[in-house]
Formats: sequence, C-alpha cells, structure tokens
Amino acid sequence: MQVDVAVLGGGNAALCGAINAALAGCSVLLLESAPKPYRGGNSRHTRNFRCMHQAPIAPLTDSYLEDEYFDDLIKVTKGNTDETLARKAIRESEACLPWMQQQGIRFQPSLSGTLSLSRTNAFFLGGGKALVNALYRRAEALGVEVRYDTEVTHVDMQGERVTEVVFTDERGAEQRVQPKAVIAASGGFQGDTDWLERAWGPGAQNFLIRGTKYNRGVVLRDLLDQGAQSVGDPTQCHAVAIDGRAPKFDGGIASRLDCVPFSVVLNKQGERFYDEGEDVWPKRYAIWGRLVAAQPDQVGFVIIDSRSLELFMPSLYPPLVSDTLAGLIDQMGLPAEPSLASISTFNAACANDLSGFKPMELDGLSTRGLEPAKTNWARPIVEPPFYGYTLRPGVTFTYLGLKVDETSRVQMQNGPAENLWAAGEIMAGSILGQGYLAGFGMTIGTVFGRQAGQEAGAYVRG
Ligand SMILES: Cc1cc2nc3c(=O)[nH]c(=O)nc-3n(C[C@H](O)[C@H](O)[C@H](O)COP(=O)(O)OP(=O)(O)OC[C@H]3O[C@@H](n4cnc5c(N)ncnc54)[C@H](O)[C@@H]3O)c2cc1C
Repeated sequence: MQVDVAVLGGGNAALCGAINAALAGCSVLLLESAPKPYRGGNSRHTRNFRCMHQAPIAPLTDSYLEDEYFDDLIKVTKGNTDETLARKAIRESEACLPWMQQQGIRFQPSLSGTLSLSRTNAFFLGGGKALVNALYRRAEALGVEVRYDTEVTHVDMQGERVTEVVFTDERGAEQRVQPKAVIAASGGFQGDTDWLERAWGPGAQNFLIRGTKYNRGVVLRDLLDQGAQSVGDPTQCHAVAIDGRAPKFDGGIASRLDCVPFSVVLNKQGERFYDEGEDVWPKRYAIWGRLVAAQPDQVGFVIIDSRSLELFMPSLYPPLVSDTLAGLIDQMGLPAEPSLASISTFNAACANDLSGFKPMELDGLSTRGLEPAKTNWARPIVEPPFYGYTLRPGVTFTYLGLKVDETSRVQMQNGPAENLWAAGEIMAGSILGQGYLAGFGMTIGTVFGRQAGQEAGAYVRG
C-alpha cells in the first residue's frame, strides 16, 4: 500500500498534521488505534487551549503577550524547557485560533469557576469532543483516509529514513504501508501501566489514567529503540488527585475532586501528610496527584463536615456520609484510633475565632502548633453529617518523548530524520520538562501538528 503521508494517531496533533498535509496536496492515511466512538485520544477530554494575543480576539479578553506567556511557562517548568521550541509554540499559538475556526472549531467565553482563564485560554464550544469531531469532518472533506481500530506496531527506520509503517487492522491482520513521509502523533505512554511501573515502581498499578487507554507509547518505544533521541524523564507527568472511584481509564475532567482545601486528608494509616490549605485549589490540584502517589497504597481519604459541602464543584460520585466521625471512618475502611486522633488533634489546633473564613481567597486561617500545618481555611471538622471521599493519583499524560527541532522533525542519534515528524504529547517533553500550564497541551499539539503537516507536505511535493 502506498500513500504520501501516514499520520500515526487520531487526536488533535494528528488531525492538525493530516489537514495541513492534505491542504498541501498530499494523499493522507490516518491510523487511529481507537474504535470510532473513542477516537480523538486525550484531545477528546479537553476544554481549552492557551493562546497568545496582542488585543482582544473573541473569545479572549485584553491581551496576552509572548513574554508574559513565557514567564508563566518558566514558573511551572522551573526552567526545564527548550526555550526555542517554547517560544515558537507561544508565538504561533496566535495564528492557531483563526486557523482552528477555519477548520470548523467554534469557541465560547470561558466557563465560570474555571480559574479565571478568560484572558489566556480559548474554550471550545462543546469541549474537546466537538473539536475532534470538527477536525475529523474537515480532514475527511479534504480526502484524508481514516482507519479506526488500527494500531501502529512498528515504524521501520533504515538509517534516518522511514521506509514502512506496520499496523494491525480492525480484523487484527497485519498490514504494511510505504509512505513517503510520516507524522507520529500517538501521545504519551500512560496507558501502559507496566511502563509506568518501570518508571515509578509497583505503586503505579494503583494510578488511574484520566484519558484514553490507547496511548500506550507503542510508537514512542519503537522509535526510541531504533535510535530516536529522547527528551524528558519517564517519572515526569501531569497527575492530579481524582475521585478514587473513577474508572481506570477515561474518567476525564468530571472525576476531579475540589474539596481538599476545606478538608482534612488522611493516608490509610490515619495520618495527615500535607498542608491541605497551602494555596487556592487551581494552583495546588496538580501537586496532589504526586502527593497521593507517595502515600501507602497510593490512596488518600478526604473528610469534610456539612459546612463545606457546598463550597466546591459537586463531585461526580456522591460522598460517603455519616452522622458521626467514627461511623464515617469505619465506612472508609480507615483505622479508627489513629484517624480519630488525627482529626481531634487537627480540630484542637484550629483557631477559636473563625470569622475570617473566606472560601474563595487565601484567608490565612491557619492551625497553630500542628505538623503539617493547614495554613488557610482551617476550620474544625465538627458539624455533622460528615462526608468522605477517597483520592487516587490520576495521570493526565507522561512527558518522556521524542526530541524534535523547530520544524517538528524527529532527531535521530546520527542527525535529523529524513521523512519523520512528531507532534503533540509524543514530543511535548522538550517544552514541558516538568510542571504544567493549563491549556498548553493543546497549544503544543496544534502548533507542531500544523507544522508537521506543512513540512511533510513540502517534503513530499518536493
Ligand atoms: C481529562 C483531560 C483533560 C485535559 N484538558 C486539557 C485542556 O483543557 N487543555 C489542554 O491544552 N490540554 C488538556 N489535556 C491534555 C491534552 O489532552 C493533550 O495535551 C492533547 O490532547 C495531546 O494531543 P495529542 O494529539 O498529542 O494526543 P491525543 O489526543 O491523546 O491523541 C493520541 C492519539 O494516538 C492514538 N494512538 C496511540 N497509540 C497509537 C498507535 N500505536 N497506533 C495508532 N494510534 C495510536 C490514540 O488513540 C489517540 O487517538 C487534558 C487531558 C486530559 C486527560
């Protein structure tokens, strides 16, 4: 089978690449391992992308300039970023918004309660699912051939050149295609829990994966084994604490729990282990994935009282509830004595005057003489009924990836690949060495996906 450009993956980065390659006049084959209803990878779960702009541009307000955007990135990655690639992603994000609109993606003003992102992040009308549907419609209208249920198992490299792509089709039969150019956009490896275990240890089997189960790093591993240069650290990933009852895969954004700042969080030994009120939740939720991952059996237990139930976004699953703390602790399967002791020690360390409690801002209402302290919103857990949730680490995506240059071309040990480009999560580790900036995953995928499509198209057209 022959085709100009083979695109490996079926999320945002892949579709941006496929569309631009088709616009350049190439025949394009897109290989998506998920069945059609689950197409679109993690992109299907998204809500927005972060976009530079010089002046208000619907739906974004004010301006958001390169230097501020770059500073925001450096704060979260602590400098662990490739500046050239990062600035390219930032600068070119500005052109992405109108380009996405041309492909049929529609935007809406930012949702209330979404971390004040109206200036920096453009929200997709209908979320990531609508975005993915629009991009598939556009790709198919441009003649891109889409194959679902089709897993790429091998990208055959002869030196720096891809000669063949091997995949299993929807019937499980092995197929081969000899494309002139290839775009790898098959995401991170978080869907392969054995690979996570090799990086994190056995506890990784208890992690939940917030997105697609199809991102198992098959193409990434195959290319690294054939001499593609890697970037990033296998233990670095975006991970948040989510409801412990969420499904193993694909729980999406609805499984996030926002009650931690108003709670006491215990580990399975009944001990507190971190300041639940360190900062406002949008600035802290992403560290709680790692905090819970470091606890015995990778689980946390959140306890609030009735005064806090209405202070956060409703949870996907109803909480456990009891009229007594002892009853709740029993339902949660926690050891009674140390758990009750932790809560009563916490309660005793809270101030008597709670009039300064302000749930929407840092109120400085701190415990005294407690280790670890709770430095904001410290109210005793005393008003029945009492409510409880379990917490698990929820991995969003891993950062280990392929090294690319500014044109998105994959770098092999002996130099740039001749006809292989990469976009999206599979190369994001160059820019996101650690930490995360909300909305930047989709920016990276859109900028480098478009670029990869353009470059592959130009290569094929000579
Ligand atoms: C719950 C959740 C919410 C998020 N919210 C946001 C947000 O609001 N804004 C934001 O910027 N980012 C968000 N992200 C991160 C964002 O989803 C990713 O950064 C982005 O979607 C990456 O796009 P991608 O195309 O590289 O990967 P994906 O969209 O994951 O696509 C990878 C594709 O590759 C396919 N694939 C994998 N292996 C193979 C193989 N061997 N053969 C063939 N196909 C294969 C998969 O099926 C999938 O279609 C969120 C992630 C999650 C999980």
